[in-house]
Amino acid sequence: MPDRQDLAQTISTLSAAQRSLLGARLSDTSVDGSTLIARSLKELGIGHIYSIAGTPIDRTLTACAEVGICVVGVRHQNNGVLMALAQNYVAGQLVAAAILSAGPAVTNAATGILVAWDNAWPLLVLGGRRSLQMQGKGQFQELDAVALFQSITKYAGLVATIAEIPNALRHAVGVAIAARPGPVYLDIAEEVFTDTQSTAISSALTPTAVTGQDEPFGLPISTRESLKDHPQAIQRAAHLLSQASRPALIVGKGVRWSTPYAALDCLVNRYRIPFVTSPMGRGFLPDDHPICYTSVRAALLATADVVLVLGARLNWTFRFGAELRAETELIQIDIEAAELEANVKPDVGIVGDVEVVLAQLLAYLEQSPPKHHCLPTFHTWLRELDRQKAQKEREIEPLLTSDAIPMSPQRLVHEIQACLPRNAICIVDGSVILAATQQVLKTYLPVSRLTPGSNGCIGTGIPFAIGAKLAQPDRLVVAICGDTGIGMSLMELETAVRYQIPLIVAIANNNGNSGSLRSSSHLDGEARRIAMFQPDLRYEQIVSVLGGYGEFITSPQDIQPALQRAIAANTAACINVKVDPAAPYPLL
Ligand code: ADP
Repeated sequence: MPDRQDLAQTISTLSAAQRSLLGARLSDTSVDGSTLIARSLKELGIGHIYSIAGTPIDRTLTACAEVGICVVGVRHQNNGVLMALAQNYVAGQLVAAAILSAGPAVTNAATGILVAWDNAWPLLVLGGRRSLQMQGKGQFQELDAVALFQSITKYAGLVATIAEIPNALRHAVGVAIAARPGPVYLDIAEEVFTDTQSTAISSALTPTAVTGQDEPFGLPISTRESLKDHPQAIQRAAHLLSQASRPALIVGKGVRWSTPYAALDCLVNRYRIPFVTSPMGRGFLPDDHPICYTSVRAALLATADVVLVLGARLNWTFRFGAELRAETELIQIDIEAAELEANVKPDVGIVGDVEVVLAQLLAYLEQSPPKHHCLPTFHTWLRELDRQKAQKEREIEPLLTSDAIPMSPQRLVHEIQACLPRNAICIVDGSVILAATQQVLKTYLPVSRLTPGSNGCIGTGIPFAIGAKLAQPDRLVVAICGDTGIGMSLMELETAVRYQIPLIVAIANNNGNSGSLRSSSHLDGEARRIAMFQPDLRYEQIVSVLGGYGEFITSPQDIQPALQRAIAANTAACINVKVDPAAPYPLL
């Protein structure tokens, strides 16, 4: 018997006709492109596909179901991409992908792909492309999506032959998860889905059959192996921390792609380094920790003498670093080298996986532990921060307890929080409600709070909730959404009902965009309709029609009982809550 390599070499010299004849002799079974895609996805760990059926992907969806991948039929492609994205974030790995039919189905997904890009989250999107042989002849839904997505993906490529499928998918998944994660798009030509080849040939040909580029689909080296140690930089970082008088920690959502939880615990609980988190970094360390100063972030960062940044970008979220004093010693650990040059140049920048680097940093700190918490000045500093924190809480208190109707967005969030178990996953969507939750909603565990993320994309709430619930079916998932975002995704509650995905959507209904009276105040007469919807729209009735559970609430006292009923309904539930359209937009 020739070995596998000999066989592959021999096969590569044959004509297409000879290969197909040989294939038929070598094996009775042949496989079509759709089946090969499904099998490859399954082998790569994809357990969920989000899609809307259509040509040329229909057969692929069936093939995915046949190999045991759960195919979720959604109501809009963009929502499907957002669901896959949230599922991957909550799972901490690439377990979900989107498959799109052609043309507009692909462009519909552009916003979700941009959210993946801006959030640096892994995503795999496969799109159908019309026949390559007929390209340029005015085919229905013809589109060069590779060119379209190149600027917002880590990789966008074309799969032109069936033989390329296994390596193309392996490469795509590898790129999506390697180093800083991100989205990858593969355009799959129509003929690739329907073409067939012998299973013997398809596996034997894989090493040589890919297109003419140099190693076009080589699997990237795994993140951790590719990184070099930086002993001097880590030693210097340890020295700065051990000498600091007022050290502080910034934690961002990038720590999701590592598991540095024991190290974070050590920095905060053993070495007593106070911390702040980014909006989605909340929960990687608990919000109710005594030395969490997220609510007075500016005060902490303006007075710290050494700041350690983990998995966060000093972009607009952190005012481009302007909250730090010029003389503050900045240590930044990031998997992406370019990040360390982006805004404030750190005094010590370490390119690497946060868990790997922190393990080495802690080994140095073991030898020379920080002593700041033995100094009286440190405790004076914390007392002042505690005072400011308590002051903030006192300022918000009246909003949380006021029985005024319509209620404030803060009162709504306060009532919801009272019903949530500590391990609930909360999704927040909408500008007014984002600001209110930033003030009021506490998060205690990692990956328990999803905001739209770095580009503030409205409409992510319901799709993120569905993806999060599929990643963690045992946890309560609650999306708190503004009425603008709801307009973009409410139909996905039909998807949730159909797939028996229980979740709760609380609508902060203030009759329009961004606190409708505020945002429409600069619009006159007829133009006010731009920002103001019909008052008191009964979205919960739509959810009932879709097969879910719904209640309309005006009184703050009714929220908790309604939420309990919604949880007991064990389906897609909507609590539509009237909130004050004139509520002042909270300044953070
Ligand atoms: P946030 O919005 O929470 O501030 P960002 O998305 O802006 O967070 O930043 C996350 C950062 O985390 C990115 O710069 C990304 O490169 C980085 N990152 C991602 N994965 C890792 C990892 N495994 N180790 C270190 N840094 C990482």
